[in-house]
Amino acid sequence: MTKVEIKTKICTKCKRELLIDNFGIPPKSRGRLNSQCKDCRTETTNAWKVRNLERIRKTKRAWVLKNPEKVREHMRTCQIVNPIRAWVRGSLGSHRARGFKMKISIDELEKVARNISRCPYCNVELDWLQGNKGHVKPKSPSLDRIHNGNVIDENSIQIICNRCNTIKGNEFGDDLRCRLITMLKYIQGGSQKEIPAGHGLGI
Ligand SMILES: [Zn+2]
Ligand SMILES: [Zn+2]
Repeated sequence: MTKVEIKTKICTKCKRELLIDNFGIPPKSRGRLNSQCKDCRTETTNAWKVRNLERIRKTKRAWVLKNPEKVREHMRTCQIVNPIRAWVRGSLGSHRARGFKMKISIDELEKVARNISRCPYCNVELDWLQGNKGHVKPKSPSLDRIHNGNVIDENSIQIICNRCNTIKGNEFGDDLRCRLITMLKYIQGGSQKEIPAGHGLGI
């Protein structure tokens, strides 16, 4: 009979025995777990930050003076200062990571993005602040590959809302997409009129 091994570890600070999920792995530790649990680590780090406020400020100031180009780029991209550029960077990065051929630069896509404020299908106002990592919402802008091709360039993409992009999906042809988006507009409009004939969805 095999015994199921439950992996636990005792935190050196709070002395609790916890599942190993409760212990972080510090960078450069080659996979070795922290001796303190995550809760205790956070506490320890915060206390250290409070004790070393002045030192941290000095280090930051020195870094800023030494890296003007990085600071400028950060300011250009910062989500609060420039949500559109932040979206562009995130979007290009995630497409590159998924293996698409990138033939458009950040500056070029930013130009495209600046010329659009509403989803071309459903006319919803795009909310650039929703970003593209973790907090994607229906009004989040999303990069749509018009013909679902492998190359991303100025002619092969458009920016539409996340909801329409989800509906569009990969498997739908243009025809069904059009019908679905007409339906969506109708539903969002809250119209009491009858659904126009010929929508073809059989409902
Ligand atoms: Zn602990
Ligand atoms: Zn839309």
